[in-house]
Amino acid sequence: NSPVDPWAEPPEKAEEAALRPGALADFRGQPRVSNQLGLVLEAARARQTTPDHVLLSGPPGLGKTTLAMIIAAEMGAPIRISSGPAIQHAGDLAAILSSLVPGEVFFLDEIHRMSKPTEEMLYLAMEDFRVDVVVGKGPGATAIPIDIPPFTLVGATTRAGLLPGPLRDRFGFTAQLEFYDPADLEDIITRSAGVLGVDLAADTAATIAGRSRGTPRIANRLLRRVRDYAEVNIGSGPVSPASAAAALDLYEVDPLGLDRLDRAVLDAVCVKFGGGPVGLSTLAISVGEEPQTVEEVAEPFLVRLGFLMRTPRGRVATDRAWTHLGLTPPDRSDS
Ligand code: ATP
Repeated sequence: NSPVDPWAEPPEKAEEAALRPGALADFRGQPRVSNQLGLVLEAARARQTTPDHVLLSGPPGLGKTTLAMIIAAEMGAPIRISSGPAIQHAGDLAAILSSLVPGEVFFLDEIHRMSKPTEEMLYLAMEDFRVDVVVGKGPGATAIPIDIPPFTLVGATTRAGLLPGPLRDRFGFTAQLEFYDPADLEDIITRSAGVLGVDLAADTAATIAGRSRGTPRIANRLLRRVRDYAEVNIGSGPVSPASAAAALDLYEVDPLGLDRLDRAVLDAVCVKFGGGPVGLSTLAISVGEEPQTVEEVAEPFLVRLGFLMRTPRGRVATDRAWTHLGLTPPDRSDS
């Protein structure tokens, strides 16, 4: 009888759509990105052209898909959604690109995981709105150019550095999404509670925000878990901060927002590897996860909290990490 994993549950589709802000004005946080993007869109509208291609980078759940949908909505354009791993053959990409309608937004998630030939076709499409479809094999092969309508590519990646330079250079606007401030998460939770019809007492949104790992997707998930807990244990009336904290303790989300994977990573570095340095792949094996998940999901937040350092020799736990786990940091006075 394993404990329920609050991250693994697929979000309920209709609710998820209702929680997504539909316009830039309703998009909370990320003021720099939101202002810059607003300007790009307004200028494109004034010139009656499609906006430049946009690259969004940042850890999962910070709003990349949401922003792509907002770009389409603000331009009054349809959106097509796909991902790098889903398009492995250049022919698949050619089929998508040639069926776009003029002005359409093409959202390509995990753009850093495309195959090389697909990537090369994308360069040409982004620059010249043209694809070359190769017909035949060997010396008789011919490239047939096909014009495609003007479109806006919105690429999403966990780290812009994962993209090859030539691809990165073809984006006219690049934005790095940061973890959200607690105050912005509090606003997001308050808005979501309104949409879901959850009655939160004063300060309860702040309690949930503090445990949301700086991430709106997690904030919304935690709110759902608090709602479950309140429906079963409290009945009617507003949910107090203490009840929210009790619900989140039950789901193993600690007061700093660390979940089981975060703690497993810290515990492995501190206890199994004596504080490090330990290499990413060894660390991933010891917590039973993919290196990519450890690197892109757990580590950015642990680094931001000042619990973990990425050094050329490997990952190293800071004294704060030891203290957070209730352990005594090692004495490094003689090193
Ligand atoms: P991934 O790359 O893992 O798909 P993502 O960065 O695309 O993640 P989204 O799917 O856009 O993340 O957002 C996750 C959830 O968080 C959505 O349900 C959305 O409603 C909510 N959300 C994200 N950003 C905001 C925001 N700025 N204001 C309000 N809600 C937000």
